[in-house]
Amino acid sequence: MILEETCPRCGTTFHEPHPRKPGRPRRWCSQACRRAASEERRAAANGAIAVEHVPVAVTLEEHVRAVLDSPAACRRVLRDIRERSEAGLLQDSRWNSVQSEIERLQPKPRPQLRWGHR
Ligand SMILES: [Zn+2]
Repeated sequence: MILEETCPRCGTTFHEPHPRKPGRPRRWCSQACRRAASEERRAAANGAIAVEHVPVAVTLEEHVRAVLDSPAACRRVLRDIRERSEAGLLQDSRWNSVQSEIERLQPKPRPQLRWGHR
């Protein structure tokens, strides 16, 4: 299975195999961004502004709110969960409740708008 990641420097999306390979997780979309970010960090040490990855303690509630505030994040989460579901990764007891929420998401027919009918 493949996960979509976003480069914190340029915003490009790239794909990572899941579960990921051993070693440090990939953070940048390309060698170019990785090198540029490293250059920028060095420049930042001299007073310029750089994009840096700073781990911050964030509550689950804050994570959820941040995702719900972003259509892009919601799209990624929904797509990823659908892919995991299709791959049968939500069968174990830890993920059962997620699987049942997905089953509740079955689309209902939309009410049709009709002209001359208010
Ligand atoms: Zn990039």
